[in-house]
Amino acid sequence: LTVLGIETSCDETAAAVVTGPGDRKILSNTIRSQIDEHTAFGGVVPEIAARAHINILDRIIDEAMQQAGCDWDDIDAVAATAGPGLIGGVIVGFMTAKAIAMAADKPLVGINHLEGHALTARLTDNLEFPFLLLLVSGGHSQFLLVRGVGDYERLGTTIDDAIGEAFDKTAKLLGLPYPGGPHVEKMAKRGDVTRFRLPRPLLDRPGLDMSFAGLKTALRTQAKKLEPIDDQTVADLCAAFQRSVSDVLATRTKSALALFSEKHPDAEPVIVVAGGVAANQEIRESLLSAAQASNARFVAPPMSLCTDNAAMIAWAGIERLQLGPVDDMALSPRPRWPLDSANAGVLGAGK
Ligand code: ATP
Ligand code: MG
Ligand code: FE
Repeated sequence: LTVLGIETSCDETAAAVVTGPGDRKILSNTIRSQIDEHTAFGGVVPEIAARAHINILDRIIDEAMQQAGCDWDDIDAVAATAGPGLIGGVIVGFMTAKAIAMAADKPLVGINHLEGHALTARLTDNLEFPFLLLLVSGGHSQFLLVRGVGDYERLGTTIDDAIGEAFDKTAKLLGLPYPGGPHVEKMAKRGDVTRFRLPRPLLDRPGLDMSFAGLKTALRTQAKKLEPIDDQTVADLCAAFQRSVSDVLATRTKSALALFSEKHPDAEPVIVVAGGVAANQEIRESLLSAAQASNARFVAPPMSLCTDNAAMIAWAGIERLQLGPVDDMALSPRPRWPLDSANAGVLGAGK
């Protein structure tokens, strides 16, 4: 199959053409970030995002089709994010996909954006179900048991901020630009990780839930004491923050892998990381160590496929089409759509 994917749920306008499931190839993966339009506001402004998607999406799709060397005859289906996300942007992308599907007479697949993140590793690696997924992005931080396409069980989640959100808020607090993740990571590289000790929230409790809001508060308290803070202090605080997050994730990952093996004693233990925060090198390394300590395989897609992109949406479309014919013309875009809700990722969900 050759599928056109469209992604517009946040501040990335993206289109891609992907083939599969046998011969898995990314023929094109076009992306335009709107960061410049949002930086001045220190975060994504939904109304600006929606308008920016409208202005550029046609061109991005053209580019993706051209780079792939495809015309509409070569495309078997159109897959687009139908939620969750900023609803204005989701509407732009999904309605554009509907128009294309109708005009070109192709099946339409409405994709759960989180399912896109969740299945990316099956595009880039040889990975069978079931596997354990750690989804860490701007809006989510959760452990999911992935038994199949559309078959997810949430094992644990953040009880407050998502990790990406915590990175972004920490960056803002320290005067670093949006989005914070990459900037915190860069500063942390030249920080002294021993200077500050931040808490490891919730680790004294069993289970797989996590908490990151307190971390940010602790960091603010430390920073306040030293105002005005110099560059080295910012770097040291970034290093402490990143280490604390990495420790929490590594500890929880070991417990999650133990639970996975209890539930699926015959399956190879695998931990897959996905979502924008998975681009972080220190987090990747500590997850790798946690996996090795548990005799488990660690799978992380390349960084460019961890942050939002349309190749993951096209791929999720291919995966969904394997379950049978799909026609999501009647599907409505949804701002909220938990991956583990009973019908998440199931054909025709949300109708
Ligand atoms: P969701 O997928 O939950 O709907 P989203 O699509 O906004 O949210 P992603 O695009 O997957 O999230 O990830 C963006 C987040 O990842 C941002 O919060 C950003 O700060 C964070 N991030 C990106 N790169 C890094 C990095 N190198 N280190 C830490 N965090 C990072
Ligand atoms: Mg983004
Ligand atoms: Fe995302």
